[in-house]
Amino acid sequence: MDHSPPLRARASLDAHAKAKLGQLQENRLRRSLAETQRTGALEVMRAGRTLISFSCNDYLNLSRHPDVMQAAKDAIDTYGAGSGASRLVTGNHPLFGALEARLAGIKGTEAALIFGSGYLANIGIIPALAGDGDLILADELVHSCMHVGAALSGAKVVRFAHNDAGALGAALADGRAQARNCLILTESVFSMDGDRAPLGLLADLAEAHDAWLMTDDAHGFGVVTPDPAAARAPLQMGTLSKAAGAYGGYLCASRPVIDLLVNRARSLIYSTGLSPADAGASLASLEIIAKGGELTERPLANARLFTQIMALDEAASPIVPLVLGDAERALALSEELEAAGFLVAAIRPPTVPDGTARLRFTFSAGHSEGQVRALADAVRAGLAGMTS
Ligand SMILES: *Cc1c(COP(=O)(O)O)cnc(C)c1O
Repeated sequence: MDHSPPLRARASLDAHAKAKLGQLQENRLRRSLAETQRTGALEVMRAGRTLISFSCNDYLNLSRHPDVMQAAKDAIDTYGAGSGASRLVTGNHPLFGALEARLAGIKGTEAALIFGSGYLANIGIIPALAGDGDLILADELVHSCMHVGAALSGAKVVRFAHNDAGALGAALADGRAQARNCLILTESVFSMDGDRAPLGLLADLAEAHDAWLMTDDAHGFGVVTPDPAAARAPLQMGTLSKAAGAYGGYLCASRPVIDLLVNRARSLIYSTGLSPADAGASLASLEIIAKGGELTERPLANARLFTQIMALDEAASPIVPLVLGDAERALALSEELEAAGFLVAAIRPPTVPDGTARLRFTFSAGHSEGQVRALADAVRAGLAGMTS
């Protein structure tokens, strides 16, 4: 028996997809997957050419560290390739407990919980803690998965102006009293701007209004000195896919909060546990990150060298945006840099707000001063070519 859908429905589905793609193409917002082989700590191969990447979030190049790779292999040898089931069924292999204890120790919390990814963490945590009758106040620039988690929760969601404690204070004064519980969402380092949240001010407001501050440390962990106020957030979320060079999301929080999430976070309950290889790799990465030192300082030092050469505001993290405005200009400069041997992704709406298409440079420990200077030269040459 033929199970394919009726031809009429197939045709209308394809027509729908093509019409949507046509609109994206017209606005230079269509995206596609370019096969990219990461051939070294910094090198990627695209269309037969080797480029130096300034677009990876593997800030410490740990995805290729021999100890980390070996730990992933050892975990596969011991526990197999996949987890086999949700952690609540049979997917809770012993590496998770070790990883959670290590993360809780690093962040100074009572407990921690590993999710399949950072995205899964946020879309699980937020709806498990807030719902109908509650208020969520989100920095307008938080990551997609925080917005999605907030939308899934059913709580009232209000976005406040980026990094603006005054705006948050006004939103709290306006809506906190009418809500049962209130959650405040921010990032320690913002993923597309590289700037840092005023965590001390946000924590003061959260305390004054009995609101729960949740921070997403995806781009801070391992590469910036934590804000002393970071520990005041009772919900500290992050990912193992960036500086830790592996995969997996986490939340560090109190024991009751973690226990509640084990019972309520749907992306934990109904999704297969993280693979043993990722958990093993992450444990090895955390050992390296915990040692700190030169390795963890180099990404920011490289970013600062770049902002200094380019006369941009001093980098606050290893992420440096160069806002170009329209998508066309961002794509054109990205293509020029590719011709010069550098991979720098153009970031376009809806990842960033309309009219703020940009190049986003990410600096890693392995970039040499010479490579950073060569990149700056190529960016200057590209910009000069565009305006003339
Ligand atoms: C990358 C990122 C995530 C998602 O993490 P993954 O582990 O890649 O799913 C969440 N929040 C922020 C701010 C991020 O940059």
